[in-house]
Amino acid sequence: MDPKDTIFAKIVAGTIPCKKVYEDEYCLAFHDINPVAPVHVVLIPKTPIGGIDDAQESHAETLGKMMVNVPTIAKLVGISESGYRLVVNEGLNGQQSVRWLHIHVLGGRQMNWPPG
Ligand code: 5GP
Repeated sequence: MDPKDTIFAKIVAGTIPCKKVYEDEYCLAFHDINPVAPVHVVLIPKTPIGGIDDAQESHAETLGKMMVNVPTIAKLVGISESGYRLVVNEGLNGQQSVRWLHIHVLGGRQMNWPPG
């Protein structure tokens, strides 16, 4: 699917609402509609990238800014001190359901390893 046809494209465009946590010129972070942890934030680029497998050199600045913003987002939702997990699902086996690159920021409980 073209990332421009996904629900996250509509969230970036502002035509579908979200519970925003953080926003800058590169990215947007909002609470997941179906959280799998007490804190579950989704961090997405504002530019359409289908998944991490579509990452190109031209996305390096955006991807870098997203990662650099993670500590700020973690502080905003109160999981900075207890710790948290970042997850990027890619494609079929990665169980990606929305084909617009996103980083799950999960916290508020003890995580397990290995993941399911
Ligand atoms: P994926 O399965 O692709 O890694 O993650 C997609 C995530 O987006 C899921 O956790 C799902 O709950 C979340 N999601 C899907 N649609 C919406 C929506 O309309 N709003 C919000 N806030 N989250 C959504």
